Amino acid sequence: MPAKQVWKKCTFCNSGRKMCFACGGSGKVSPGWQKCYDCNGFGSVLCTNCGGSGGWRESTWVEEEED
Ligand SMILES: [Zn+2]
Ligand SMILES: [Zn+2]
Repeated sequence: MPAKQVWKKCTFCNSGRKMCFACGGSGKVSPGWQKCYDCNGFGSVLCTNCGGSGGWRESTWVEEEED
């Protein structure tokens, strides 16, 4: 059986970035609406699940199909 490399899209983020929960995506937090410390004001943070790449490669064993 041949091994096949497939690209698994990360379901936790959008292209490696996800909305910052600390500020709700606005980049600012109350009180005073200062720059959000968690995302540095970007409103989104790097996805820790995929490391910011938006997905990962996975090796799967595929059964040979007969045409
Ligand atoms: Zn934030
Ligand atoms: Zn991700």
